[in-house]
Amino acid sequence: MTDLIASVDAESDFIPAAKPLIGTDERRAVDGVLASGMLAQGAEVAAFEREFGATLVDDHDAVAVNSGTSALHLALLAAGVGPEDEVIVPSFTFAATANAVALVGASPVFVDIDPDTYCMSPAAVRAAITSRTAAVMPVHLYGHPADMTAIGALASSHGLAVVEDAAQAHGARWRGRAVGTFGIAGAFSLYPTKNMTAGEGGMITVDDANLDRLLRLYRNQGMERRYENEVVGFNLRMSELHAAIGRVQLRKVLGWTAQRQANAAYLSREITTIETPVTAPCAEHVFHQYVVRVPEDRDGFARALELEYGVGSGVYYPTPVHRLPSFDLDLDLPETERAAREVLALPVYPSLTKRQLDRVVRGVEALSRAGA
Ligand SMILES: *Cc1c(COP(=O)(O)O)cnc(C)c1O
Repeated sequence: MTDLIASVDAESDFIPAAKPLIGTDERRAVDGVLASGMLAQGAEVAAFEREFGATLVDDHDAVAVNSGTSALHLALLAAGVGPEDEVIVPSFTFAATANAVALVGASPVFVDIDPDTYCMSPAAVRAAITSRTAAVMPVHLYGHPADMTAIGALASSHGLAVVEDAAQAHGARWRGRAVGTFGIAGAFSLYPTKNMTAGEGGMITVDDANLDRLLRLYRNQGMERRYENEVVGFNLRMSELHAAIGRVQLRKVLGWTAQRQANAAYLSREITTIETPVTAPCAEHVFHQYVVRVPEDRDGFARALELEYGVGSGVYYPTPVHRLPSFDLDLDLPETERAAREVLALPVYPSLTKRQLDRVVRGVEALSRAGA
């Protein structure tokens, strides 16, 4: 790696594909918790939940857990999804979406995506509904909201629960309404590479007091009062240390999002030789990833971008979830397959400088011209 970086021209340090921003205020917050000696779920977690609800999901309730995957898992459990049920999910996503379905004993039914937004196609959802369908899980992939108008209409006419996978979409909106507020529950991730982090962690957003209570029971051994376990539950609690980091990040996430959007607008203006991201007219895209399509030899393109220009990039995701050994289904999802071959995520995170953005543009333009 050192050799590769050294071979890049002198102006340049390597530009990674993603970069978590941790400041002295996050460190100070963690130190404060350590000094207090109160480390397990308590006042910091409760404050983080309130602030998350107010900042990102139009004052819906938020329940903190230890990961985005736990958030999805508990949301499905609390929605009563279980064995015999089918849940419609996109295959072009991180495996956690479908894992959560399988972990409650239900069957994920994989559908294709809209090639413009990379989110699940409402027409494909309609075609996949059966008498066993219990829920649909739109994923707001890359920070672009799924078509919640069409998916919401299908869900209400067929009596399906909607559980939103908003792991990549903190603050994204569809027709002005925050993701995480459309279904019976939304699930957010606070993993280090997401738009904000708590170190690790997740949030479930709900707008129903019974569901809220059930989620709180499930995350803590089924107890509201100690040693009075009401249901069988897990330990999926968030620690005070993680909540303290998350609270500091929450104060910055809206500004970071604006910077991601500005970076994305700059890249889309300057990149002219390759297909740049599409934003639906009624969507607010928060650019967790800035994804272009490279139709020929995407992996060679990514390698050259790194070696010749010192620009990192990422492929999310190279294998559709239905083809992973964990599911291994032979399905025909052509837009999912094409996206898995073509997508390439370029750096878009808020701390990029104009010089770095210009180097990304220069590399992409030169390589796509050379390949054309
Ligand atoms: C990150 C992610 C998850 C899982 O979140 P973790 O916090 O890593 O468990 C689920 N779905 C999608 C789409 C994700 O990107």
